[in-house]
Amino acid sequence: MSDCIFCKIVSGDIPSYKIYDDDRVFAFLDIKPLSKGHTLVLPKEHFENVFDIPEDLYAYMFEVAKNISANIKEKYQPEGIFINQNNGEMAGQSVLHIHIHVKPIYNESQKHKEEDKGMQLSTEEMEKICNDLKIA
Ligand code: 5GP
Ligand code: ZN
Repeated sequence: MSDCIFCKIVSGDIPSYKIYDDDRVFAFLDIKPLSKGHTLVLPKEHFENVFDIPEDLYAYMFEVAKNISANIKEKYQPEGIFINQNNGEMAGQSVLHIHIHVKPIYNESQKHKEEDKGMQLSTEEMEKICNDLKIA
């Protein structure tokens, strides 16, 4: 996609700190990292999000993210690694070329904030949501 910043990084038109490169997937350091080693993993081909990427490529991105995480753990020994992949602007996606964030967590200030998850739902509401979303 000609006006996509991540397509330009994949093609080399925009420089990046490359961490990994194969025929399908590319990974580089985030320009505005949460922490040392914050890496973005993405398909070379342009897909916007989880809804349009083929399933096998999506799975492969996570396989690469797992290997990158293991390497970060070995080299930098973070306390943990937060892996996230945002879909849509309301979900925090600012670049519309699908990517996985691999974020090493070294201290309390970098921690994922679990207190954001405070929604209260009744038993009936939980049962309805469960019935609505059940696939198998
Ligand atoms: P999103 O918010 O879409 O999940 O994540 C996009 C990420 O891409 C952000 O963390 C941002 O810092 C990073 N980013 C945006 N533009 C560039 C760039 O030109 N180079 C690099 N290396 N990272 C970028
Ligand atoms: Zn793109």
